[in-house]
Amino acid sequence: MRIKEAYERFIAAQAADTRPACVARQYSDQMVCAKCNLAWDVNDPEPPQCRAGSR
Ligand SMILES: [Zn+2]
Repeated sequence: MRIKEAYERFIAAQAADTRPACVARQYSDQMVCAKCNLAWDVNDPEPPQCRAGSR
């Protein structure tokens, strides 16, 4: 019972959390994620979702 409740909370929290788990570092005018190797412009208004963060 307790475990099921905790599991359901965990799933709900994951579903609600849309923040990308990117480990992005800035290289001149580019951002590069060390986790998923995505690269995007630092001025990109819509940076790509981290592929490492989505399961
Ligand atoms: Zn990433």
